[in-house]
Amino acid sequence: MSESSFTKTYQIQLAEFTRMSQTAGSRSDYVQGGGGNTSCKMDDEYMGIKASGFQLNQITPENAYAVIDYPALRNFYQANTPEQFADVEKAGSAAAKDATRTIAGLPVLRPSVEAGFHAILDNFVLHTHPVYANLLACAAEGPQLAAEIMAKIGENFAFVPYINPGAQLTFAIQTARHAASQNGRLPAVVFLQNHGVIITGSTAQACLDLHDKVNDGLAMYFGTSKSAWPNPKLANLPAATESTEPHLLKSATPWLTEALIEQPWTLETFTVQALYPDQLVFLTGQVAVLETGSLELFLTTGAPAPAKATIFRETGEVLYQCSATEAQTIEETLTAVLFIRKTIRAKGLTVSPMSEAGKSFIANWESEAYRKSIAAK
Ligand SMILES: [Zn+2]
Repeated sequence: MSESSFTKTYQIQLAEFTRMSQTAGSRSDYVQGGGGNTSCKMDDEYMGIKASGFQLNQITPENAYAVIDYPALRNFYQANTPEQFADVEKAGSAAAKDATRTIAGLPVLRPSVEAGFHAILDNFVLHTHPVYANLLACAAEGPQLAAEIMAKIGENFAFVPYINPGAQLTFAIQTARHAASQNGRLPAVVFLQNHGVIITGSTAQACLDLHDKVNDGLAMYFGTSKSAWPNPKLANLPAATESTEPHLLKSATPWLTEALIEQPWTLETFTVQALYPDQLVFLTGQVAVLETGSLELFLTTGAPAPAKATIFRETGEVLYQCSATEAQTIEETLTAVLFIRKTIRAKGLTVSPMSEAGKSFIANWESEAYRKSIAAK
């Protein structure tokens, strides 16, 4: 099928897929950097799914998604169990690769590593890492509180305890949804511990509405609201010389400045004690702390920045020496981490970071291909 016939045949589906992806993807309280992914089943064969290395709001009818033969990938998860494989992740990525279709005229892109669970869910899938759902997903009390909160919100759900992303996660989602089914209906909301949330439905609007409803309800339970989210921003710094590369930027998020001064944290809060995989991917190895001095004083020394993001402990300032896209991702992630930690504690609950085993899987995953694919863009 050529590009023109593919985009023409599935014009309506692609417009809705694009709208859902851009609507959720333009909010940094819903996804930070290249996090999250979306998909749309076009008919009984093709599924469009966000491509690895792209941001949700980059999806258009012509770009930033891969096309998968989803019944083939779904069959892999329905016909097998994880115990059947010596290396279940390898088998899962091979199945996703085999099911990926080349459409003439469309760019050949690698599907999101989370393609598996998209294949087994409903027509539209919206998977995000919202700072509201992650209050539940990153609190030690989350698994116990989920039923009470979701009864108030009025939606059935499944809660999947932390499991490594990829094939194992897809198998776990399948099992958890079946266990949570009510009157033969599988839940449309799936919480992923220390990770995020998945919403699935028959239309893009149903997913967007349910996603808002669940996040609004969670924010309210935790004593916050969407209007409390500080919308992280950057500002340019004047270049020392015309040829200064890469460009220097600084944080322009007053909430973050204040949080860095007032909240308790160490470098490890950001780079080691990860709340979710994307925090490791975006922050580990990228952040340094200067315990004394200010950004202004530092710039007068002419010294090179010690990391892509340098935090000034005394002033709460953050200096960035990297691309604007990467700086924005780090700024959003720093803000999300402090926002989630502060809000969980304010509710009198306990912040529960990822386990050592979970972190080491992410650090070694496909020789960090995942990290590179989503952080470097
Ligand atoms: Zn995710």
